[in-house]
Amino acid sequence: MRKPMIAGNWKLHKTRAEATALLAELKAALTGLASVEVVVAPPFTALAAAAEEISGSSLLLAAQNCYPASTGAFTGEVSPLLLKDIGCSYVIVGHSERRQLFGESDEFINEKVHALVETGLGVIFCIGETLEERESGQMYDVLRRQVRLGLKGLSAAAMAGVVVAYEPVWAIGTGKTASNEQAQEAHAFIRALLKEQFGQEIAISTRILYGGSVKPGNIDGLMAQADVDGALVGGASLKAEEFVRIARFNPA
Ligand code: PEP
Repeated sequence: MRKPMIAGNWKLHKTRAEATALLAELKAALTGLASVEVVVAPPFTALAAAAEEISGSSLLLAAQNCYPASTGAFTGEVSPLLLKDIGCSYVIVGHSERRQLFGESDEFINEKVHALVETGLGVIFCIGETLEERESGQMYDVLRRQVRLGLKGLSAAAMAGVVVAYEPVWAIGTGKTASNEQAQEAHAFIRALLKEQFGQEIAISTRILYGGSVKPGNIDGLMAQADVDGALVGGASLKAEEFVRIARFNPA
């Protein structure tokens, strides 16, 4: 009942021409893949070109960030309204790079989640512990805090537009992936947190993606886990061949 999602976070990569070329390859290779929701998140500057290139295909567009206001005196910021206008279906929020490099708090991330839901955009809500937090036994407390505060005040209906991405910080861009068992354990815990906060129905229907050095060589094992409903892919989403193999995972 949870349709798998494979989402590519391009981060600060790809000019408009490069984005268009990559998307042309993805479109050709993923046509007919109806069982998986495939999402790409180019940088802001390539969103318009990307929207045009994927128009009429099943690929969906995401932005990597937003500011929680519709309009106003917020120099340099981009609102959910503008992202919807350009053709985005989802926006990534709470990515560990935004939390760590740009000092984003759980409260600020929560404002973004609300703004996106109110605009009718889907949310890819990222959480995850650092290596230090994991090794000092704080992983569960960190995940609980991030879920409780980041999704605070959302109704069950609003949660229908939220996808959670578990991304252990120590696995992002490092080549270290959580083992299948570590991923499943964290995902089951997150689903239990969703049950506490929103009830059984939301816990069962919410997709939880894994992120952290997902590659063609580890996606099948991850997708075989009961509570892993897809992947948020960084580095490997920049190469058509790798991303296509990930989207065409085979959990058997
Ligand atoms: C990410 O940035 O969301 C990510 C998971 O990156 P990578 O796949 O490169 O580890």
